[in-house]
Amino acid sequence: MHKYTLQPYQGMQSRHTCPACNSRKTFTRYIDTDTGETLAPHAGKCDRADNCGYHYTPRQLFEEVGSAK
Ligand SMILES: [Zn+2]
Repeated sequence: MHKYTLQPYQGMQSRHTCPACNSRKTFTRYIDTDTGETLAPHAGKCDRADNCGYHYTPRQLFEEVGSAK
């Protein structure tokens, strides 16, 4: 299933503050390719791969939701 993708770069409004390192404008969120809506705020990837490396995938997100039942 490849319904989700990292949000394409569309200017600064498409880059967010990383929930792991709190660095501004380095965090790319995942979007639903059908609706264009963003997923949970912590689902995404930090650009600071060397210093942060945060990457929370849609798969992890849905596993988290599934285990919360
Ligand atoms: Zn980060």
